[in-house]
Amino acid sequence: MSAPGTRAITLADLPLRPELRGEEPYGAPQLDVPVCLNVNENPYPPSPSLREHMGQAVAGLGERLNRYPDREAVTLRTKLADYLGHGLTYENVWAANGSNEIMVQILQAFGGPERSVLTFTPSYSMYPEYARDTHTRYVTAPRTLDFRVDVDAAVALIASSRPDVVVVATPNNPTGTVTEPSDIARILEVTSGIVVVDEAYQEFSSAPSCLELLPDYPRLIVSRTMSKAFAFAGGRLGYAGANPSIVDALRIVRLPYHLSGLTQVVACVALDHADELLSQVAHLRDVRDASMARLREVGLDVVNSASNFYLFGRFADRHAVWQGLLDQGVLVRETGPDGYLRVCAGTDEEMERFHLGLERVLDKARHERIVP
Ligand SMILES: *Cc1c(COP(=O)(O)O)cnc(C)c1O
Repeated sequence: MSAPGTRAITLADLPLRPELRGEEPYGAPQLDVPVCLNVNENPYPPSPSLREHMGQAVAGLGERLNRYPDREAVTLRTKLADYLGHGLTYENVWAANGSNEIMVQILQAFGGPERSVLTFTPSYSMYPEYARDTHTRYVTAPRTLDFRVDVDAAVALIASSRPDVVVVATPNNPTGTVTEPSDIARILEVTSGIVVVDEAYQEFSSAPSCLELLPDYPRLIVSRTMSKAFAFAGGRLGYAGANPSIVDALRIVRLPYHLSGLTQVVACVALDHADELLSQVAHLRDVRDASMARLREVGLDVVNSASNFYLFGRFADRHAVWQGLLDQGVLVRETGPDGYLRVCAGTDEEMERFHLGLERVLDKARHERIVP
């Protein structure tokens, strides 16, 4: 007799939605290696004293764990509004389990069947999946050769194809390039749809935030996350600044009690200690700049980045270079345009291992480079 879980049935035997047939679950490899530079995390964990505070907050919640959490997460949203500034209150802020969930909620509310979402590629690899999962048509327009949004072309395309939602990541992942608020404003001027600016890496950038556009553009959503600069990827907290009516729309589609009480209290403690959690951001920027310069010195092509990661290459066989680094315990990301790899800023020791590892790989295999 076989256990129910071992019966010979596969995905192909299930009545799966047709558009999901043959699909793989998304995910960067989660490998147990000494140097992880592949998912753009902040490499510095919270201090022992901050962890102590978080533990106390969880213990304090324990006596209410039999009750549902605050569905509206008002305390947390108030702290997020204070952090964002720009005169926002909790009514302008929404929070969910990572900005991934915020983006799905946005498409649940404003996308859907017969509707479309426009993005500028190459960009974040999750956008097509949010579109697929919400039955929203996914439309892309190519970025320029230096990975900027061609705003004139975007304006023309939006006028002719009338997307319901436009998403611009700035700094963009995986290219690290910035779209300025003045360009976002031009896009807002020509669309009657929703414009989402994904500012997941804003703290690493010196460009102004599109939050400054909110008073003039009620159909703008600025999405943020605590996963990157904030060193809180494991806490799963994404949020967005928007007009209160947009927040009301997202409240319609959210699952009841979507944000656990544990997430809410720990995120509140993290926000109370924002200065500490963000204290390494300036250093990580310097680490990124020094690392980019070092690769340029050896003649590699490096894409200028305003984020905590950057693209480098270009390699005729990027997978071989990725594997060569992995063999030395250094995990980077095989993503982005042909021939490039992406690495994020780690600790000083991690970066040293990355650079030494890469030099060794390039020396040994004489990897053919594609000259720009
Ligand atoms: C990492 C990242 C996010 C953040 O996702 P979370 O769900 O908040 O962890 C959002 N957008 C982009 C472009 C990212 O790279």
